[in-house]
This record gives sequence, C-alpha cells and structure tokens, in this order.
Amino acid sequence: MIVAPNLDFPWLTHGFGLRDSEPPAGLTTVRQIHSALVLDACGRKGEQIGEGDAIVSAEAGVTIGIRTADCVPILLADPVRRVVACAHAGWRGTAANIVGSTIQEMLQHGSLAADLCVAIGPSIGSCCYEVGQEVAQQFGREAGFLDLKAINEIQALEAGVRKIWKSEECTFCRPKRFFSFRREKEQAGRMLSFVSRVV
Ligand SMILES: [Zn+2]
Repeated sequence: MIVAPNLDFPWLTHGFGLRDSEPPAGLTTVRQIHSALVLDACGRKGEQIGEGDAIVSAEAGVTIGIRTADCVPILLADPVRRVVACAHAGWRGTAANIVGSTIQEMLQHGSLAADLCVAIGPSIGSCCYEVGQEVAQQFGREAGFLDLKAINEIQALEAGVRKIWKSEECTFCRPKRFFSFRREKEQAGRMLSFVSRVV
C-alpha cells in the first residue's frame, strides 16, 4: 500500500493499493463508468451507491474507494472540515475534469479549495501511455505520449488547490507491483485505493 505524505492526518486512513493489497472491509464504492459523475456517500455506508467515478464523504466511519489499473486514482481530504473524497480518472474522466468536479462537490460540503489536500496515485505514466489522435485531441494535442497524472495535477491547481502530492510510479513499467490494463488486457485485476474519515 502506498500512502501519500500530504494525507498523513490522525483522523484519516488511506492508501493506494498495490496488486497484492487486501482491500479494507465495509467499503463504499460506485459502479465506475468513465464519467465525471461524483456521488455523495452520506448515509450510504458499505454498499455500491450507484454509477459514477468519484465519491465524497463527510461522515466518520465510512470508507470510500475506487478501483484502477492504469487509470489515475486520486484521493482528496479537507483537514479543516474533515471531508474526504476519491476519484477514478482515466482519459475520459480526465478529459471531463473529474478532479475539478470532485473538488466542487467538496466545496458544496463547506470546504475551501485552499484547505484541500490532493494525492494523485500511481497510474500509467507518460513513459508508456501512447495515445492516438482521437484521444490526444481531447487534450488539444497531437498523437503521442500523454501524462494523465500531470493533467489532473493542473486541473487541481486550476480549481485552487495547492497542497498536491503526485506519485511518480508507472503501473505499466512495474508488473510485480501493479496491475496494468494495457499490459495485461482483460486478465488485469484492479487495485483498490481508499480513504476514510475515522473520527
Ligand atoms: Zn512506464
């Protein structure tokens, strides 16, 4: 399990799962559809709460999580209001600015962007993520190598967040550590990343 230094708070637990990590019990998840839909987990403990790709929770004792294999897992926390969130950002979610939508939902819960801490976990890196014209043009670029983590970081900055941590690891480059959809195709498992407000 990878932990982000900027989410090291006594009231919170979190982790970016590796391929052999055991997911936490009683997890609240969504059916992921590569959208920018953000769901509120309020009062919805321990279940799949619907279709979407990000979850916000302000309730103690609720563990929210998302699954990835090359897509970017993002965990967010507001240490002032004790609001947490997680998001799954593939190229479609990134093109739709899911991290911006997730931050907006946290602001609806009373958070201030300046207080938010955003952790961008391991995903396929720009070393390995070659895309064709169809995907590249979503980001105003030519076909070539795309850095999804960097684009999500810029989107978080544009939303007013300054406390950002970003993993430098590539899921495709490190088969013993990570699942990779591009490398393992339909055989690829999923890594579970989670965050929970404990108290
Ligand atoms: Zn790589």
